[in-house]
Amino acid sequence: MHQVRIKNTQESYTVGKIVCLGQNYLDHIRELGSKVPDRAVIFCKPASSLLADGGVIEIPEYSNDCHHELELALLVGKSGKHIQEKDALSHLAGYGVAFDLTLRDIQSEQKSKGLPWEIAKGFDTACPISDFTPAAKVDNPNNLQLTLKVNGEIRQQGNTDQMMRSVEKIIAEISAIYTLETGDIILTGTPAGVSRIESGDHLEGTIEQVGSLQASVA
Ligand code: MG
Repeated sequence: MHQVRIKNTQESYTVGKIVCLGQNYLDHIRELGSKVPDRAVIFCKPASSLLADGGVIEIPEYSNDCHHELELALLVGKSGKHIQEKDALSHLAGYGVAFDLTLRDIQSEQKSKGLPWEIAKGFDTACPISDFTPAAKVDNPNNLQLTLKVNGEIRQQGNTDQMMRSVEKIIAEISAIYTLETGDIILTGTPAGVSRIESGDHLEGTIEQVGSLQASVA
């Protein structure tokens, strides 16, 4: 699946790149024992990692420790480069719910060797994603409650008001590096509470005003 849809419409977007922000919530930085980064931690997932709502997560055989990360997703509706914060929200077509699935064992191993860790983040099914709610229907993306349940039990709870960089700042910073094109997706980082998922688990993420996302683990 390389297409995402706007909820309750015929509108769909072909996904280009998926740009992700790491370490954007202080409590998550602390739980991983990481330092507050000097500059934004940015990485990309390929569009081939997308998984539609209700899909099945396939954890690669090279990992024994796949973590869920619940994140607010932004869908770019209007291209731009060097977008200013004051104009940033006008470039968005919608907001969605995403899981930035992460092979924590592989990521830690690669980090310790000073090597890139895309293989921990970009595997097939590593990016479950919901349909998108039109941007105009969300009052303030910087104040939305997020909740992730695994098998009905709450694992992650937070609010986008805890993000170190606002949605506007994220768009400004990323667009200073990459031209943001229509159909690109941005993941905005995860709050604390990340933990291991395993075969048979059922995940449900919800973000206030935005919607929900479900996935199960093969
Ligand atoms: Mg993440």
